[in-house]
Amino acid sequence: MEKAISIFMMILFLGSYSSAQSSEKIEEAKACFENYVKALKEGDEEKAKEYWNRKEKERYKIYDWQLRDMFFRKVNLESVDYKIRKVEETDGYIIIHVDWYYPEDSSKVIQKDVRYFIREDKKMVGANPIFILTRDWLKKESKHFVYHFKTRKDEPDQKLLDKMDNFYEKIVNFLDVDYQDRIDYFRCDSAKEVGGLFNLERSLARCDMINGVVAGIQNFVPHEIVHVISFKIMSPEEERLPETYLNEGLAYYLGGATFFSSDTLLSWAKTKILKDPKVSLDSLVLRTEKYQGNEGAALMSSLVKFLIENYGLDKFKKLYSLGKTYDQRIETLEDIYGETTKRLEKKWKNFVLSLH
Ligand SMILES: [Zn+2]
Repeated sequence: MEKAISIFMMILFLGSYSSAQSSEKIEEAKACFENYVKALKEGDEEKAKEYWNRKEKERYKIYDWQLRDMFFRKVNLESVDYKIRKVEETDGYIIIHVDWYYPEDSSKVIQKDVRYFIREDKKMVGANPIFILTRDWLKKESKHFVYHFKTRKDEPDQKLLDKMDNFYEKIVNFLDVDYQDRIDYFRCDSAKEVGGLFNLERSLARCDMINGVVAGIQNFVPHEIVHVISFKIMSPEEERLPETYLNEGLAYYLGGATFFSSDTLLSWAKTKILKDPKVSLDSLVLRTEKYQGNEGAALMSSLVKFLIENYGLDKFKKLYSLGKTYDQRIETLEDIYGETTKRLEKKWKNFVLSLH
């Protein structure tokens, strides 16, 4: 009986001990995040860096992916506020859900972050989800890839790695870009897992173009590899992404889609152009988001094929490297190709219809 009581007491004690520990950890994580944002708002990047884990700072050009997303969306950190919506503690790390908004309207959330915090050298530091979620994964290196996988059954054989290395070299040569780094490839089990690594919605495959990271449910996704390598067309100091129709068009043209080859996409483009007279170059360029799914992919890849095969790679790279030009998209295209989009559209459609 006495023993039972002492065990009971011990459990009670341990219980209260661990909850004290955990709230302490949560407070530390919150303080870490607050100090990090404060340093960033003050423009003190060196200070901000102290609040991030070492491995990601070494590996990635831009280590905080969610801050980068904000930056690419032209949101100025100095002019926004945040509130912590939820805090969770799991398995040795803390998750903080953060809503960003403009001070004048706190009900309009402009970005939702899910931020991870972990102890390193006795202090809390920030981390991307991918860092935490793939901590225990295995890896195998090839000439151009670091292949990450969870269990031995997903271990890539030499044949697969050779195929990936060859594809990498083919794309680097074709695009004539200087790509030196290894690409991190994460082999996932589900679309949910792929999305989770990037803190985004579910997807069969995704990549981080800037940092050279790819994740997919298949053991090799050429489309995403093209995205990563083609980002090198942009000049290094360029702080924007390429236009979507060019970015996706190029990846579909050289890498196909997850389950379809580039040739299948071209035959779909032909069918679509034959059936639908409303397909226009202007709307593909200006309202790319309207062209979803396989048909959108088909049209974009056929356009990029047309531009590269008829006018050369140099002009295409020039257009691509200008990045998002928003309201001057049509003018930029006409400038570089020296023709109106109406004429270009006619030539593009004739080109696609003439393909076998
Ligand atoms: Zn894509």
